[in-house]
Amino acid sequence: MNYIQGSLIYEGKAKRVFACENPDRVLIEFKNDATAFNAKKRSEIKGKGRLNCKISASLFELLELNGIPTHFVELQSETFMIADKINVIPLEVVIRNIATGSLCRETPVNQGTILNPPLLDLYYKDDELGDPILTEGRLKLLDLISSSQMEEIEKITRSVNKLLKEYFDGLDLLLVDFKLEFGLNSLGKLVIADEISPDNCRFWDKKTSDPKGRILDKDRFRQDLGGVIDAYEEILKRIEKDSSNAT
Ligand code: 5GP
Repeated sequence: MNYIQGSLIYEGKAKRVFACENPDRVLIEFKNDATAFNAKKRSEIKGKGRLNCKISASLFELLELNGIPTHFVELQSETFMIADKINVIPLEVVIRNIATGSLCRETPVNQGTILNPPLLDLYYKDDELGDPILTEGRLKLLDLISSSQMEEIEKITRSVNKLLKEYFDGLDLLLVDFKLEFGLNSLGKLVIADEISPDNCRFWDKKTSDPKGRILDKDRFRQDLGGVIDAYEEILKRIEKDSSNAT
């Protein structure tokens, strides 16, 4: 199914969302723009949009196959996906298997500590406020979602983590942590939205012990390590190799 690109509904840091002739659907364009540290660091990385679009589509398909609801419908082209139109819940749901990033900057937890059970952190999605971390009390105060929806979000996030951790382990990749976003579709159903890609997941190559060499995600951009596109290509290559083995 190909939809005609309608008017721009929303432009974010890495994606544009367009209306189309079906009022329950949108077209999402994955851009080459890269940002970090709340957009204080910016660049354009040729090919990133295509890679993130294809990686996200494959991972959303994997989740759907395992009964986990997402906004993904199908790919329209290499950089556009068709998705359910949703009301985005302004929450960033981060789940961590290995301590790194903000957890180690903000707490005395040592880099590389295995987090068992995985640690779930919630942030309020608001660029101007710098996506602040939420306590249980603040979440209640903001009244963004009901407590049963919050329970469902946590349950889904933990299932996604279990599934993806095992899946990437089979591709010789450690899934260190990732961020999910959620929304409600036209039927009021809770679905995973946004993307699942090296922009919002951390992947470490199990075949490399060098702490910088093993990084295959946006930390290469955040830390000026170079080789961003090669790292994203490597993730897609392993996913595609796995799906060709499966067929
Ligand atoms: P941290 O809290 O260590 O900065 O990030 C934890 C995980 O969530 C990482 O995989 C990171 O990529 C993802 N993440 C957290 N906040 C954001 C965000 O605002 N945008 C994106 N793309 N990913 C995020």
